Amino acid sequence: MRIVALAGGIGGARFLRGLQAAAPAAEITVIGNTGDDITLFGLRVCPDLDTVMYTLGGGINEDQGWGRTGESFTVKEELLEYGVGPGWFGLGDRDFATHIVRTQMLAAGYPLSAVTEALCDRWKPGVRLIPMTDDQVETHVVIDDPEQGRRAIHFQEWWVRLRAAIPAESIALVGAGDAKPAPGVLEAIEAADVVLFPPSNPVVSVGTILSVPGVRAAVAAKTVVGVSPIIGGAPVRGMADACLTAIGVETSAQAVAELYGPDLVNGWLVAEADSGVRVDGMEVRSRPLLMSDPEATAAIARAALDLAEELA
Ligand code: GDP
Ligand code: CA
Repeated sequence: MRIVALAGGIGGARFLRGLQAAAPAAEITVIGNTGDDITLFGLRVCPDLDTVMYTLGGGINEDQGWGRTGESFTVKEELLEYGVGPGWFGLGDRDFATHIVRTQMLAAGYPLSAVTEALCDRWKPGVRLIPMTDDQVETHVVIDDPEQGRRAIHFQEWWVRLRAAIPAESIALVGAGDAKPAPGVLEAIEAADVVLFPPSNPVVSVGTILSVPGVRAAVAAKTVVGVSPIIGGAPVRGMADACLTAIGVETSAQAVAELYGPDLVNGWLVAEADSGVRVDGMEVRSRPLLMSDPEATAAIARAALDLAEELA
């Protein structure tokens, strides 16, 4: 079986681990969000790609959900001694190595997709991980800054430095309109038996991937099953509600289903607390959706595949 999943960071990566357990023989292609990518200290950092790579490759800090296990922060501390920041983005020593390799390869002319493949040669995540695009797409957020007035900032500055405490007036995917899907993205979707939306952020993860021209139409042609990241009117972790509010969508499993719509998503898994969700043209099933341990996560992935099989 060929499976394609569109993934953000933590929610996506954890779901993928369950998917591997539920379908060990499947050929899984992961299309990763690169809208969160940022250049820090001259290095290109791809948080969502790395979270998927480290999680599936056994290098993730499990408690945190991002970054490397056994991490130290000597380089960051030394940089701060020089007055060189930002100090708000946690880059550990081990993680720095990944970004140095990536930046060196990009500077030598390799596209991000080739760089990601090279990094995965080490981590062997057991899936084919492809960035959504080799072009630069950056998610920016317009805020009304109490000090500096209305301005657009990089998503990471809003998310990590400000903890989304200042409401987003709008979210702009800078460069998305001219971006091309990375080599292999459309081909993998076309060849897929099923496309899955893990419980990733529907606005700044899955929504960003779908904004790359050609991706939405390719996905819409397939059997698509999504897992709700919203349970009982709140995100399970993180601040996805702040992103939904920014685009005028209520934080509920119902509203996220409607945001995707029945033209795109055929099957929608919601938590038992949300069993009342109904969308015309969409098959909705309620299941325990907390990825509390590997078995529970595999059961969610199994339910998504079962629903896809029924709908195919
Ligand atoms: P990010 O890049 O770190 O934001 O990670 P993602 O975009 O992949 O996903 C974060 C989303 O995953 C949030 O909206 C969470 O509500 C959702 N999430 C996290 N853990 C769980 C879980 O156990 N179950 C479900 N259903 N959703 C979860
Ligand atoms: Ca992310």
